[in-house]
Amino acid sequence: LLLPWHSQMKRSKLTTEAYINGVLAGDRIVLSRAITLCESHRPEDIRQAEEVLTAVMPHTGGSIRIGITGVPGVGKSTFIEAFGGLVTQRNKKLAVLTIDPSSQKTKGSILGDKTRMEELARNANAFIRPSASGSALGGVSSKTRSVMLLCEAAGFDVIFIETVGVGQSETLVHGMVDFFLLLMLAGAGDELQGIKKGIMEMADAVVINKADGDNQSAAKRAKIDYQNALHLFPSDASGWSPKVALCSALEKTGLDDIWEMILEQQDQTKQTGFFHGNRQQQQVNWLKENISELLEGAFYESAVIQSALPEIMKQVEAGELPAMNAANELMKKFLERK
Ligand code: GDP
Repeated sequence: LLLPWHSQMKRSKLTTEAYINGVLAGDRIVLSRAITLCESHRPEDIRQAEEVLTAVMPHTGGSIRIGITGVPGVGKSTFIEAFGGLVTQRNKKLAVLTIDPSSQKTKGSILGDKTRMEELARNANAFIRPSASGSALGGVSSKTRSVMLLCEAAGFDVIFIETVGVGQSETLVHGMVDFFLLLMLAGAGDELQGIKKGIMEMADAVVINKADGDNQSAAKRAKIDYQNALHLFPSDASGWSPKVALCSALEKTGLDDIWEMILEQQDQTKQTGFFHGNRQQQQVNWLKENISELLEGAFYESAVIQSALPEIMKQVEAGELPAMNAANELMKKFLERK
């Protein structure tokens, strides 16, 4: 007798070898399971995921990594559907990953609730994977990097990492991609669109979506405004000057130019060496993020801190103990713990 969970149990037991070979062969079922493994919090899964990642590492790094952000309603899923379609028509295999900051706090999510990207989901050259949930945003972003590497090892040439433009998730995505694309709307002020200046500054391209119908002339005016705004920012280390483009994700216009722009930026930054240096820096930052996370976890989970913290917190709250002294005292306890 084979009960449903028997097959589940069997399903969860792939050998490390099988994961590695399946991922490298581009087997989507194994890839999905390898991603699930990477997202797991169980110690034995984490160990196995590390082995898999280490083995596939030499086969990673070959994709164009593109971050896509914008406030809800700007047209992210419509854009990714249309632009993703174009990318696959150019004979590229595309993986779409999402970082959804909302799913951490609530059970629901801004990005995931509705049925999104139905066309792309049926496209044989596209692979869509929603955000991991259940841990801090930092943890999710770290896992997304692992997922990105797995997708590259599985032969995906282009990776989109989508996030909703409402918080720190854009900064995290910016830190793991080569090209950062900010979707905007014409006619609404920056404040209305909830876009902070810092996010504009990170953009390699500002793409004004919904440049169709009655909205076209407003979009053209907005293009000039954004071009002027971008010129005011100091140029960054990449040497790439951010561009403004118009598109209609709905009518699928302007998308070719955006793809050409991304290819041009890749060429240019590869020639100057920025591309490689940036990727190296991103890897090192990832290491540092992981170290911080591990240290913080070990700190708060340790018995000495758990027993000392409530009392010290009270003293800090009451204004009896300076926060810095309190932190030093706790750190001393932590470092001297048995
Ligand atoms: P998201 O919340 O950023 O993922 O936005 P959606 O892709 O769900 O789009 C929000 C709404 O804007 C939907 O009703 C889309 O049909 C519409 N929309 C998206 N792109 C365009 C476009 O290029 N032109 C027009 N007119 N509407 C669009």
